[in-house]
Amino acid sequence: MRIRGIRKDLLSLLLQLGREQHPNEYAGLLREEEGIIEEINLLPGTTSTVRSASLFLDMMPLDTHLAGSVHSHPNGVIRPSDADLAFFPRTGRYHIIVGFPYEVDDWRCFSANGMPVDIGVID
Ligand SMILES: [Zn+2]
Repeated sequence: MRIRGIRKDLLSLLLQLGREQHPNEYAGLLREEEGIIEEINLLPGTTSTVRSASLFLDMMPLDTHLAGSVHSHPNGVIRPSDADLAFFPRTGRYHIIVGFPYEVDDWRCFSANGMPVDIGVID
């Protein structure tokens, strides 16, 4: 399934979650419907890291609408870490990182191999 974009309301929520969890990191899985990323499944616990997300995936049933993942970088560096690059291919093709200060432009989408991907924001 080719992803056409992300729902604007969801993107706002992803940034808001970053603010709420700061200075902790959060992580979640992104689900798509008909090519639009519409939903986040927050990983359990008040704070989640990419590391705990990997453990969680081992227990998860296969989800055919899984588009990828989202997590926050409280240090504001919106670039995948080595741990992220190991984690991305396990959850899908689209991976959003939101970063401090979590303003409207403080996010980017990456492919599973860590290259920036442009996705639309859909009202
Ligand atoms: Zn990261």
